[in-house]
Amino acid sequence: MRTAVMPKQGTIRLTEPAGFEGAATMIVLKFGGTSVANPDRIREAIRITLLQSVPRVVVVSAASGVTNLLLEAARCAAAQDNEGRHQAVAEIHRRHDAILSGIPDPAESACARESVDVLHHLLDQGLSDIHDAGDAVAHLSDRVVSTGEKCLSTMMAAMMRAEGHPARAVFADTVIATDDRHGNARPDRPRTRASAQSHIVPLLDAGQTVIVTGFIGFAPDGSTTTLGRGGSDYSATLLGAALDAEEVQIWTDVPGVLSADPRKVSTARVVPHVSFDEAQELAHFGAKVLHPRTIRPAVARNIPVRILSTFAPLEPGTVVTKEATDDRMKAVTALRGLILLTLDVPELEDLAPAASAVFRLLHEERVEIVSVSQASSRRRMTFLVDAVIGGCSRLQVHLESEMDELEASISCTEDVAVVAAVGEGAANTVSAMSRMLSVLHRNNVPVISTSQQTSNVAVLAVIAERAADKAVLALHDAMVQPASRKKSRRRRRSELMAEPVRVG
Ligand code: ADP
Ligand code: ASP
Ligand code: MG
Repeated sequence: MRTAVMPKQGTIRLTEPAGFEGAATMIVLKFGGTSVANPDRIREAIRITLLQSVPRVVVVSAASGVTNLLLEAARCAAAQDNEGRHQAVAEIHRRHDAILSGIPDPAESACARESVDVLHHLLDQGLSDIHDAGDAVAHLSDRVVSTGEKCLSTMMAAMMRAEGHPARAVFADTVIATDDRHGNARPDRPRTRASAQSHIVPLLDAGQTVIVTGFIGFAPDGSTTTLGRGGSDYSATLLGAALDAEEVQIWTDVPGVLSADPRKVSTARVVPHVSFDEAQELAHFGAKVLHPRTIRPAVARNIPVRILSTFAPLEPGTVVTKEATDDRMKAVTALRGLILLTLDVPELEDLAPAASAVFRLLHEERVEIVSVSQASSRRRMTFLVDAVIGGCSRLQVHLESEMDELEASISCTEDVAVVAAVGEGAANTVSAMSRMLSVLHRNNVPVISTSQQTSNVAVLAVIAERAADKAVLALHDAMVQPASRKKSRRRRRSELMAEPVRVG
């Protein structure tokens, strides 16, 4: 629990509360890569942060593009490609130098430069270890890739202090406790809560704004782990839950959760409110605006999550809370690059043992299951799973020997996608699935398999990946209804929402 009682201040908001009322005592704000890409963007992130009441915790990603460059440097080091490695590292230095030069106070700038130099030196050591190992093994890669978030939190804290506001950078590989799955680690919430309370609360109590690295944590052996690509959103809700935050704000480059990815559907609109269940399905089925696991810690402690744009900070964004406020279909998403395993058995009674062998193998291989469905004949089951290194050939080698003994057969298809239409209530109607199928049929998109989630929050169809863009456009057009326009106070927001979406 918190060690000191904080004054109950209302959250100073940039806009009126949208669909969620109440005073907030502690806020976690997370800024994504584009929102901290250069000194101007960082200054804007600081301005937004300072408009919120204290105490406040900021979670930051690496500057846009830096994580990809770090992974590229690691890949080159493993492949003994020194030229490629040095090019990637030089570009990382260039981006960080540009931010350091934007710190207005010379003493703060020099101090931040010293810390960043140390982090760059550690990066070189990590890359040399990968070079010597000849392989970017996950624990070495995690150490290397954590450099982006560590440099950014160091520089943002310095910039905030240079503007006269107390701030401290904290590296989450001393705070977020995880297991040892390097590259895709699972947090240990009780241990994270204990370390957040002991490492972060005293800083907050001393009046600091705490700027924590997103994306990273620490394994039981103390080594640095990462939470999977895009994991800073997850860091924000994990810290929000660990610190009993009143609200978590995800500040990004789009003005909220949209009814489809705006890069694919130009008519996508902001969805003002989604429920925890809806947000979870959207993130799970490919809405990149939220890391797939982001909502879980918020559900556990019933913390509202708000998605807002640093490029349009006055817009109301999307608020995610426990209850659904209406039963419209909210959004259409697609998750690409998946693998479909189809299990066939000769007799009904063979299905359970064969399916359990598939589940066990997927678990042992740490392959994530996206969805599972069973044919009405009860002799076929399909498993839609995340792409794995080695693809079908790797999975089939493991599975076929087991299936021989069980007299079952398994086939594997790569490059499939799942399209999902998400809306609590709307997906729960008898017509939802037939509607989806007829839209896909009208648009000549063959359906490989379907599933109406038992949660009744989404309807899904598995299709070839190459048809995903067409399917999303058609489904969005046919199934997502615009929010009803209400008069009075909400009207301005509706009008704002009718404007073309500004994407950063
Ligand atoms: P950040 O760096 O701030 O974490 P991301 O790039 O991870 O930002 O996520 C924001 C991006 O998610 C948007 O630019 C948009 O292209 C994509 N996106 C995909 N689906 C959706 C959706 N349904 N609503 C909003 N954004 C989406
Ligand atoms: N920087 C990390 C990534 O690019 C984490 C994040 O941005 O959330 O995946
Ligand atoms: Mg992201």
